[in-house]
Amino acid sequence: MKLCLLYGGKSAEHEVSLQTAKAVIGALDKNKFDIYPIYISKQGQWAEGSKITDTITDVAQLQLLNNNSNEGLSSTGEDQLSHKSTDMIPSSLQSGYDVVFPLLHGPNGEDGTIQGLLEVLNIPYVGNGVLASSAGMDKVTMKNLFAQAGLRQVKYVSYIRSVWEADRDTAYNEVEARFGYPCFVKPANLGSSVGISKCENREELVAAFEEAFRYDRKIIIEQGVTAREIEIGLLGNDEVSCSVAGEIVPKKAFYDYEAKYQDGSTELVIPADISEEQYAELREMAIAAYKELDCSGLARVDFFITEDGQVLINEVNTMPGFTPFSMFPLLWKHTGLPYAELIERLIDLGIERFEEKQ
Ligand code: ADP
Ligand code: MG
Ligand code: MG
Repeated sequence: MKLCLLYGGKSAEHEVSLQTAKAVIGALDKNKFDIYPIYISKQGQWAEGSKITDTITDVAQLQLLNNNSNEGLSSTGEDQLSHKSTDMIPSSLQSGYDVVFPLLHGPNGEDGTIQGLLEVLNIPYVGNGVLASSAGMDKVTMKNLFAQAGLRQVKYVSYIRSVWEADRDTAYNEVEARFGYPCFVKPANLGSSVGISKCENREELVAAFEEAFRYDRKIIIEQGVTAREIEIGLLGNDEVSCSVAGEIVPKKAFYDYEAKYQDGSTELVIPADISEEQYAELREMAIAAYKELDCSGLARVDFFITEDGQVLINEVNTMPGFTPFSMFPLLWKHTGLPYAELIERLIDLGIERFEEKQ
């Protein structure tokens, strides 16, 4: 099977994507899969590489190192990844692969845009389709869909930049009247906690609006809760299976970008110490959210459990962190599906969805 790995990307999670690509290449059975890399630089330039036949030891090998030649890989003495730079979408995507695995997070990767391109090109791909990806990337749309499905969640309100600019005080007053402090202000369309602030007073609220609007023309403000953070992995197309639940124990104010990827200041507890009833409720809500967003392939569904035991849904991540040390693969490992098997299952699900549509 000719498998194309699409990684890198323009989002803040570029480096994470490289780590993921390295791990996926390491886990894939080279007798079953011919692996072809396509790297997307931080500037959005696409570069196609030749077949990978061996494990990658250094993520720099996965990057476009030289725009005009195959140099830069000489440190390994191998020429597995002779990337050619191109401003265009590689032509190999039009007919060259049996399946594409987009190992991309955030805007232009996890938000339905790449998925739309692959749909137009009529290639099977791993993970969620266009609708689930875009609905899951926009926190306002996602929460509106949760509300539609009757799922319990925090109170929220959203603004677009032009409305806020026309009358800022009305926006701040409305937030304070609806739920007050603490509250969280977030760009509608990012992930990885980028642009998110926790606010305790009006001054912080004003600063948080300014910050969030730097990243997006639409923002969401949510009531802040004091809660445990519990996550669950889902796998499947029409039939969905749930993993055990896991808990994120942050040693910081909240689970921000540094905590997620850099400073190791969070601990993952798997399985989470929750009651049977809570786990059953989580599963039921997670599946309802998965169906409401029309997810396929996979999703990680994140919850808050408040001090009085209420389960609130926070978000669905349609391309959750996928290194072997990320929550989603670890949840499945504890459920009995190790990393390499998880990857093959996802590939099968992508192909199955494609074939059902034909
Ligand atoms: P992202 O998609 O970037 O992960 P989240 O909505 O999950 O964004 O927010 C990131 C983190 O911020 C959460 O994991 C949690 O620690 C904290 N957080 C977000 N919203 C709330 C809230 N309403 N109440 C309490 N904590 C929150
Ligand atoms: Mg998210
Ligand atoms: Mg999150």
